[in-house]
This record gives sequence, C-alpha cells and structure tokens, in this order.
Amino acid sequence: MTYVYDFAEGNKDLKDLLGGKGANLAEMTNLGLPVPPGFTISTEACRAFLEAGDVPDGLSGEIDAHLHALEEAMGRRLGDPADPLLVSVRSGAKFSMPGMMETVLNVGLNDRSVLGLAEQSHDERFALDSYRRLLQMFGSTVLGIESEIFAKALDRLKKDRGTQADTDLGVDDLSGLIDTYKHAISEHAGRDFPQDPREQLDLAMRAVFESWNTERAVLYRRQERIEEGLGTAVNVQAMVFGNLGEDSGSGVAFTRDPASGNQGVYGDYLQNAQGEDVVAGIRNTVSLADMEKVDKRSHDELLEIMATLETHYHDMCDIEFTVERGRLWMLQTRVGKRTPAAAFRIGRHMTEEGLIDADEATRRVTGAQLAQLMFPSFDESAERTLVATGMNASPGAAVGKAVFDSDTAVEWAERGEDVILVRKETNPDDLRGMVAAKGILTSRGGKTSHAAVVARGMGRTCVCGAESLDVSVKKRRAKVRGGDAINEGDVISIDGTTGEVFLGSVPVVDSSVMRYFEGDESDEDIVLAVDGVMRHADDVRRLRVRANADTPEDARRARRFGAEGIGLCRTEHMFLGERRQLVENLIVAEDEDGQEAALSALLPLQRDDFVGILEAMDGLPVTIRLIDPPLHEFLPDYTDLSVKVALEDDHHDMDEHDQKLLEAVKRLHEQNPMLGLRGVRLGIVIPGLFKMQVRAILEATADRIEAGGDPHPEIMIPLVASVTELDLVRGQISGVAEAVERERGMKVPHKIGTMIELPRAAVTAHEIAKSAEFFSFGTNDLTQMTWGFSRDDVESSFFSHYLESGIFQVSPFESLDVDGVGRLVRHAAKLGRKANPDLHLGVCGEHGGDPASIHFFDEVGLDYVSCSPFRVPVARLEAGRSALGT
Ligand code: PEP
Ligand code: MG
Repeated sequence: MTYVYDFAEGNKDLKDLLGGKGANLAEMTNLGLPVPPGFTISTEACRAFLEAGDVPDGLSGEIDAHLHALEEAMGRRLGDPADPLLVSVRSGAKFSMPGMMETVLNVGLNDRSVLGLAEQSHDERFALDSYRRLLQMFGSTVLGIESEIFAKALDRLKKDRGTQADTDLGVDDLSGLIDTYKHAISEHAGRDFPQDPREQLDLAMRAVFESWNTERAVLYRRQERIEEGLGTAVNVQAMVFGNLGEDSGSGVAFTRDPASGNQGVYGDYLQNAQGEDVVAGIRNTVSLADMEKVDKRSHDELLEIMATLETHYHDMCDIEFTVERGRLWMLQTRVGKRTPAAAFRIGRHMTEEGLIDADEATRRVTGAQLAQLMFPSFDESAERTLVATGMNASPGAAVGKAVFDSDTAVEWAERGEDVILVRKETNPDDLRGMVAAKGILTSRGGKTSHAAVVARGMGRTCVCGAESLDVSVKKRRAKVRGGDAINEGDVISIDGTTGEVFLGSVPVVDSSVMRYFEGDESDEDIVLAVDGVMRHADDVRRLRVRANADTPEDARRARRFGAEGIGLCRTEHMFLGERRQLVENLIVAEDEDGQEAALSALLPLQRDDFVGILEAMDGLPVTIRLIDPPLHEFLPDYTDLSVKVALEDDHHDMDEHDQKLLEAVKRLHEQNPMLGLRGVRLGIVIPGLFKMQVRAILEATADRIEAGGDPHPEIMIPLVASVTELDLVRGQISGVAEAVERERGMKVPHKIGTMIELPRAAVTAHEIAKSAEFFSFGTNDLTQMTWGFSRDDVESSFFSHYLESGIFQVSPFESLDVDGVGRLVRHAAKLGRKANPDLHLGVCGEHGGDPASIHFFDEVGLDYVSCSPFRVPVARLEAGRSALGT
C-alpha cells in the first residue's frame, strides 16, 4: 500500500486519492509552474486512520522517506536549528468543505530554529513573526484552543502600542507575544507546545484526519450529499514566505471575474503578508493592476501563469500565490466558483474563444442557476430588515402591502395596489387572491403545500411555512415571534429564492432572461449566452418537456417557454368561483333529473375551458385529468355552514338548500380525505361527473377540428389502484365517445390513460398497461402514499428533524426519492412497457421540474417530464445535460 505521493507523481484527475488541492498542486508541478515542492498524504491514509483510530502501519516510514527527499531538494532539514526547512500542512478533500482543519504554516519552528531562521533571513522580526503565527495556528487548529484567545492577545498588544497594523509590531513586541502564546497553550491545552518538529508534523496530520468528522463537516456533507467515506488528504509543502518585507506578499486571483464572468484577471494582493492575511481584511489589499506598480516582474509572470492555467484547465481558475523577495510561487489552483450569470457568460466566451465546445458549455451550467436568472431579485446593495424566514417555495422577489384574505387582495389589487397575500395556509378558495397578489406568504405548509404548488404554477413568488409568524385573519395581522407585527397595509418584501421576509420595500431588479423566454429579443450578453445553451440542450435531449397548465393563458406561456404539450391539465379549479353553485346543486340533487340539470349547466362551461386550452396547444398533446380532489373541497366549511343553519333555525327562516347542503357536507366528511372519495373513485360512485367532463373534452375537440385546428387530447384518470377501476371508467368514456362521434358525424381523436400514483398501481402496472395508452407518474401522491407522509403537513411539521438526522438530504416531495419511490417508477415503467410496447410514459408530479429527478427520469427512459410553465426552461436544460452525461 502506498500512502504518500510526491507532487510530481500526481495529476488533476486523481482527486479521489489526493484531494482537490493535492491533485491540482501535482498538475501545476507537472506543468513546470513554480510550485514549492512537497508531498501529499492520501485520502487512503485518512480512511485507514479513521477506521483504526490510529496511524496505519507503514505511513510513518513513507513520510520519513518523502520528508528526506524534500530536505535533499531544499538543502535544509526540517527544524534544523541552524537553517531550518519549514513546511505548511493543509487539508484537502475531494470537495472543499467547511469545518475541515485550517492551514498550519511554519511547521518546524521552535525556540532554537527560530534563531536559525533569523540568522539565515537576516531578519529577526520576520523569524519571530513566523513563530508567533505557528503558535497561533497550531494552538487553535491542532490543539483546539479558542482562536479568540490568541486574537485578543494580539489586539491587546497592538492597542498598547497604539497601532492598527501587525506590521508595526517590533522584535520585542513579538518576543513577548510568543511567550504569551506559549503560556496560553500550556494553560488551555494541558501540554506545552511541541518543540520537536516531527511531532508538530505528526500532530498536524492527525488533526487534519480528525477534522473530517467535525460536526460542521459532517453536516455540510449531508446537505451537499457528499459521500461520508471519502476522507481527506494532507498536503505537506515547503514554506515560501510572503512576510519577508515589502518585496514579498501574498495574493488570491481569478482568471476571470467570478461575479460577472467578464474577461480579464481579477484579484487582490497584500505586501508583507502570509496565509489568510489577504482575505482577513487586516490591511487594505491592492488590485492586480496595482500590483504591477509594486512588483512588475512577479505581476507579469503571474498573468502568464494564469493564462497557461486557463488554457490548460479550459475553465476559469481560482489561485493563491506568494511572492518571496521578488520571486513568485504558486500555492493553489482550482476551478473557480462563480455566480449563475458568470457561469453562462464564461461558457459563451470560452466557446467563442475555442476553449470549450457547446456540449461542455451546456454541461457547465445548471437548471438551478438558470432558475435564479429568470426571477427578479432584490437589489443586493439595498438595506433591509429581516423579520422572518420560511421555505423558499417559489423563487422571485415581491413587494407589496400585506393583506390577510382573498377578497381584500382582489379589491386592493383592482384599485392598483401591489399586495402580498399572507395566510396561515391557502386552499382552493384563495386562488383569486393568489392571482391578484404579487406574492404569497404562509406560516404553515411545505414545498408541496397548496400555496407552494399553485404559486410555482403561476410563477408567483412564495415563501411558505414561516413558522415564526402567527397569522390572524380576524385581527388582520401577523405577529412575529419575539416582537414586531405585520399589520394589514404594511409594506413587506418577500424573497422566494431564499425564503426571507423583510419589513418595508426592498428595491427589485427585473430579469432580462425572463423577458427573453417571454419572446423579447435582446443582444445582452447574458441573454445570448442563455440562448446558446438552450438551443444546444434542445438539440441534444431525448426527453420531451411538457407543462402542467390549466388555463389557456398558462398554456400559451408554457408554449413560449418551449413546452411540447401539456402533461397535466388539472380540472379542479374549473369547479370553483361562480360554478361552485352548480357543484352544490349536483351534490344536493335528489334524483337523476336534478343531477342531470346541474351537469348540463356545467357542460358548456367546461367545453369552453377545453377549447381555449386545446387552441393554445394546437398541434401538441394535451393531457386532461378528470376531477381528482374529494368533493367536499367544493362545498362550504362544515362549521360555517352549521352556524348559518343554526341561525336560520333561530330566526325561523329555514333555507331548504342550506339544510340539504349541510347534510351533504356531513355525509361527505372524511377523516382522511386524501385517502377517501377522490380520483377514479368519484368516477365510479358519481359517474355523471366524469362523463360530463369527457363529453366536454370530446365536444371541444370536435369544435377545434371544425374550426380547422389540430387538437390532441389525452384523457387521464387519476388515483387508479386496480385495472378494474380503469376498465369501468374506460367503458364510460367509450360510451360517451361513441355518442359524441355519432352526434358530430366525425371521428374525434383521443387517447385514454392513467396516472400511476399509488404503490398498488405501480406494482400491477403490467395489468393496468393493457387498458391504458399512457401512464403519467403522479409522483406527489406516489411519494405521499409510499412514505405514508401527508404532503400538506409533514414538511413544515417534522421534516427539519428528518433532514438534521440525515434520514434524507432533501425533502422527497422536492427531489424524487430514487431508492424508494424511484424504484416503483422504474419497475412500473418496465412492467408497463413489457405488457404494452406502445405505452407512452411521462411524469407530472412536482419532480418533473426538479433537476436531479429529471436526470433519473431520463435514465429510466420516460418519454417526457411535465412541470409548471416557469420550470419548462429548467427542464429543457437539464434534459439536455442529462443527454450529455452529466
Ligand atoms: C401527483 O400526485 O403527482 C399529481 C400530479 O397530482 P396532484 O398533485 O394534483 O395530486
Ligand atoms: Mg395526485
């Protein structure tokens, strides 16, 4: 087993073994760049250490050998009292992560070698400064002493000397500080600072290994889904000194601007500084342009190296460097992090420069980055007062006056005011208010709550589950835990991208990328960059993208955004508002005639709904789902109605309709409505409703054909568990189809299929497939029913515990649970296709717009994903990236 590798032995593709930092140091070494020599103790050594709780056999010998080679190369021995070799010890895992041990510089210094260093450098102050830094870094990172203790002692000393800058401290000051630090170490670590250089090195290495398991690191890995077992490498490198005077310094740089993506180098340099000084804000840094004036030779060489790195890595690089007495040294490089706008723009520029091709430019941007570019955002530089934080349910930035009910929302919006609808949670009754509002804020519910789903569907900004708000509709106010209150009419600003809620009005900047998707032309660089990537993603993707839309307006927008049909047209909102009365009539009807009358009143209205949607999606498939939710959702609230009837009773003013309605509400009441009379079950128990909807769809189709259109309706049955349910409803549909075709004297094309959203449907997919032309996976219900999680409740009630405990890294309602729910999808797709090779497969749950889930659906071989119109571009991009193997 080899545990230790010289920098010259590695390369940038060995990140698993050498960690990111080690692999890139090796790559730079082999490029012939000026990298101080050193070696990497591999992640394998870390894994062995963590497993055994001790240094594995053989590691110490390997370190000896590599250290010896380093000493030979440098012509100095580690910690030699006369002329010491000093080294830095840095952690470096495959992915950089918070919580890992910070760098320790100047390892090898002790009470004797500090004198040798002073003599060799002809600079006593420098030697003492290096030693105090070692004591400080070693004490806090390796020995685990509060870093404040060291920082305070330094501050006190500076104050005593009446200076702000550490560079003003002289030899005596630093000698005193070294004593103070050594005492602090003895007092707080229960041991003296180790004088043996090799012991320093070994302790630092152990501390790096152990830092893999710090709480912060573990939490970060869970959140970012980084494998627990990777381990970290340790890099040991000969020191070069940026603190040797004004002709020395250290700096950080990017080969392009990581904020805007603009071409041209970008960075900061600090003279006479070491390590973190440059980013710690202890003194003012200078830009790279100004560095040219300070040290032209190092500056020019740095620029040349940066150009080499970009050409070599084919990407924007982030680097750390040091200048020691006019000589430049490279200490680190990696592919640099960047903002979403920079990611798109750098991709475009690099494609034009011939550094990368269109495939690579598409791989390097993500749907999440695109989504961020599509929403208006709060002006970064503006002041703000945070009052609450909830879930970032639907991105964007919205400002308006708080209102607490839909009527007020509509009324105020009609008189031209911007409003934010604030509710405990929303229900279908709030739809008008949600349409009227600029944004929606709820104190309950998760990312698949009604508010979140509907807001995303409409592209409204939404923050949900802001639990610290106590919302009272009666008092028209939301009290904030711990003080403030938001009263009706108060202006608030909500950020659906971060989940933050601010008091007052924060200025908003609008998105040119969104205007581009809406059809505006623009020659802005960011728009051209997005356009290039979208075109390429569309060229390469296999997976089709449809939209979930249930109004002609949404359908048209979805089409502008590139949707290739509708994958889910929910029909429930078509029974609200004024039409509610007709639903009530249907439910209280005492005989078939009464039911028939209510249904015939609904029919023309439904037909018009469908004509509009089929017209907006002319030539493309439109999947219309027959009514799904339990009927009581369309009836008045039980308590309200009981009170009304009791009052009528008191006043001897009985209303027969209300009485019957109350009976119906009682009769239809269910303990678990999500598991009750809904979906296909309604079609079986009250067949008239389904039949009316089917007739409306087919008549609308006939109307569109007569008008010269090209409609492609697909009738979808929700919540099927057994093929027999589907067969019964299919029989009804065929009957209606025959009748409509006879009446209209034409063939009326349509497909019939079902949702797969119950585990039983998934495992009997081979039976169901024989009676279906298509399956659409309803992964919202499938997740709810597979985990037994109530989708409206669990996210805000206990998901935070589940996330913290690592049971899952992300809500399974947000990103598909591939191991559980995904297995059902994969299995059902396979069974279904085997039984019916022509079966068309799609998904219409919220997961259809989630990047990770889209990659899974592509891999499983579904034909399309369907998501809310605003996520259509994201889905197109991710389908393209999936085809490119990312
Ligand atoms: C689903 O269950 O995934 C689905 C799309 O239907 P709904 O969210 O309307 O229940
Ligand atoms: Mg469903």
